[in-house]
Amino acid sequence: MLSVENLKVVYRGVILALDGVSLELGDGEAVALLGPNGAGKSSLVRAVAGLLPKFEGRVLDGHVRLMGQEATHMDPVGISRLGLTAILEGRPLFRYLTPVENLMAAGHRLPPKALKEGMEEVFARFPRLYERRHEQAGYLSGGEQQMLVLGMALLTRPKVLVVDEPSLGLSPKLVEEVMRTLDALRREKGLSLLLVEQNARAALSIVDRVYVLERGRVVFEGDAKAAQEDQDVMEFYLGKE
Ligand code: ATP
Repeated sequence: MLSVENLKVVYRGVILALDGVSLELGDGEAVALLGPNGAGKSSLVRAVAGLLPKFEGRVLDGHVRLMGQEATHMDPVGISRLGLTAILEGRPLFRYLTPVENLMAAGHRLPPKALKEGMEEVFARFPRLYERRHEQAGYLSGGEQQMLVLGMALLTRPKVLVVDEPSLGLSPKLVEEVMRTLDALRREKGLSLLLVEQNARAALSIVDRVYVLERGRVVFEGDAKAAQEDQDVMEFYLGKE
């Protein structure tokens, strides 16, 4: 579904954020991309979503392939048409708009009937969001905002969902809930999921495979179970929690 090959990314021509990263995400697979602050995780998300230029970044070398097609320099609309939706870090939504309005904005390219059905599906999945559908999104809790950005992403009916740090700033209980939701979505919809996290334990509980990034390079790659059971990997690469 998604294949990243020897990707090098620079910002402003000088800051090397990714230094030859390769990564595969298969059909229906869930993969975690872990690593400390500044490792390059968000840069990879931006690269596969066609969003680097927005951040003064560009691909220096390597390839991104999506559904077998060359997508390295494709713009976000082209990438979304191919079926990849990325949720960037920090729960990007319109704070002064309500959940209904945010969903309408996210689905503005859909035919009206598909938008209506999509919104009904989102509200059925997240009843709490339905209760607060007419309140300003900025007043929702972190967990509710995360559900809203997930709902906005689902409206576009992605085949590949990339989520950057959904657990950020959430209580352990809510982190667990978000992980359960992502896992359920992946299974029910047959999505391929690339989960970018600093919270290794939470991410490892729902993924098949894992990549660990450090300073723009992949320093570990393997089965999630094996990584979880490998004390060295957990402590050395991911830190004790
Ligand atoms: P975090 O979890 O803090 O977001 P990350 O693993 O996602 O970290 P990136 O945000 O991809 O890491 O950052 C990788 C490197 O690129 C860092 O050195 C960072 O300072 C740099 N960087 C990221 N965005 C930009 C930008 N827009 N302009 C210049 N440098 C940037």
